[in-house]
Amino acid sequence: EVVALPPGGVLLSTTLFYPTGGGQPCDQGELVTPEGERIRVTEVEHRSGAVVHRVSPAMQGKLARGMSVEGRIDWTRRYRHMRAHTAQHLLSAIVFRRHGIPTERARLGGPGGSFDLVRPLPSGTSLKETLDEANREFFTRSVPVSLAFITPEEFAREPGRSSAARLPQGLSELRLVVIQGIDRTPCGGTHVRDTSEVGRVEEEPAIPLPGGGQRLRFKIGPEERAPSVPTLPG
Ligand SMILES: [Zn+2]
Repeated sequence: EVVALPPGGVLLSTTLFYPTGGGQPCDQGELVTPEGERIRVTEVEHRSGAVVHRVSPAMQGKLARGMSVEGRIDWTRRYRHMRAHTAQHLLSAIVFRRHGIPTERARLGGPGGSFDLVRPLPSGTSLKETLDEANREFFTRSVPVSLAFITPEEFAREPGRSSAARLPQGLSELRLVVIQGIDRTPCGGTHVRDTSEVGRVEEEPAIPLPGGGQRLRFKIGPEERAPSVPTLPG
């Protein structure tokens, strides 16, 4: 249901659209009115606690407060983000296990994604060894990906943190994305439920970052099978 219509935007009572955040690009799709009018959603963002769906001003006129609309998400785009996001968690975890270097931030989009290490990989090594292990042990095998909810205090006692990203303050509960046997990282994004859904991942050239870090880049393959039941944003 449409609850507000700020300029160029639509607020709904509930939504499945994922807003830009946590390095993951937003969903796109459309809102369908009771008359069957299809209104393209070009961008979705968090604005002062609300999820704003961006639509063209011309199309916004076809909506009214209280109207029931159906949201349709571009699943091809969303599923690609889910696969790339899961790949990034796993690659960050293996880099951390092999080299002890945590990831500071990650970015998904286009044909894959990238993640920034707080310092470069040791000279003579690259993402390739990590990718070989990931492709062999995870992206071509079924390893479950699930969610766990724990308190920040409980999380502080867990060893081996592959992410150096700062956690939001004041949370009573953290949403952990758990890749069985290898990684537990707080994240609000969307991921696949099984590492084999990622498929083979390829290396892209790394980029040195000002300040001494290093950006590792990767590319995922085209969709090989239909999307699984999606993991909803939390
Ligand atoms: Zn994530």
